Amino acid sequence: MKTPSPIVIAIDGHAATGKSTQAKKLADHYQWIYIDTGAMYRAVAWVALQRGWIQGDVLDASTLIHHLNDIRLEFKHSSTHATSLWLNGRELQDEIRSMEVSQWVSRIAKIPEVRSYLVAQQQALGAHQDVIMDGRDIGTVVFPKATLKFYFTARPEIRAQRRLEELQVQQPDISFEEVLANVKQRDHLDSTREHAPLKQSEDAVLIDVSEHSIAEIFTQLCGHIDKALN
Ligand code: C5P
Repeated sequence: MKTPSPIVIAIDGHAATGKSTQAKKLADHYQWIYIDTGAMYRAVAWVALQRGWIQGDVLDASTLIHHLNDIRLEFKHSSTHATSLWLNGRELQDEIRSMEVSQWVSRIAKIPEVRSYLVAQQQALGAHQDVIMDGRDIGTVVFPKATLKFYFTARPEIRAQRRLEELQVQQPDISFEEVLANVKQRDHLDSTREHAPLKQSEDAVLIDVSEHSIAEIFTQLCGHIDKALN
C-alpha cells in the first residue's frame, strides 16, 4: 500500500461539510497524520482578536502582518495519528471555534501574507510524512500534486444544521439563522478572494454529502483511496 513518496490526501470544499470528521476517521484508518489547516487560519484570527488588532469592524492588517512571525503554530500528537494545534506553547481548544472567530476568519484568510506564512508550514508538514489535510486550497495551491484530492459540498441549510448542533454544546444561545448566514458568508468570501480562492481542482473527486450519512461517505472515500493506492 505504500508508495515511495509521502502520501498526501487533500480534502477541500465548502464550510461545514464534514471534511474534518472524515479526515480524522481516514487518518485513523490508514495511519496518516491529520492536519486541520482551517484551525491554523482560525488561530491567527483568534490572536488578532486577543491582541486588539480588531476593533469593532476594523482589522489592523499591517500590525497583524508585522507580528505574524510571533504566531508560532505546532501540531502535536494527541494520540497516535490525531494531532492538536498548539499556539506559542499552549494547546488550543474550542476558543478557535467561536462565532466571533468564524465571523473574522475568512477576512484574515484573504490576506496574502497570512496565506504564504501558513502555506509554507503546511507544505513542510506534508513533505516527509503521510498526511491527510483539509482546507480550501490544499489540492489547488498547497499540494497541487497530491496523491488524491476530494472536494466536498452540500446544500447550505444542511451544513448550517450540522454546525449548529456542534456549536450548541458550547454556545446554547446560537441560532440557526446566525450559523446559516456565517456559512454562506464564508463560502462567498472564500470563493471570491483574489489569492487561492476556494474552487474545485480539475482532478478532484466531487463528494456531495447532502443525502449521505457519515458512515456512507467514509465507505465511499475508502473506495476511492484503496483504488488510488493499489
Ligand atoms: O475549515 P474551517 O471551516 O475551520 O476554516 C475556517 C476558514 O479558514 C475558512 O472559512 C477559510 O476562510 C479559511 N481557510 C482557508 N484556507 C484553508 C483552510 C481554511 O482560507 N486551507
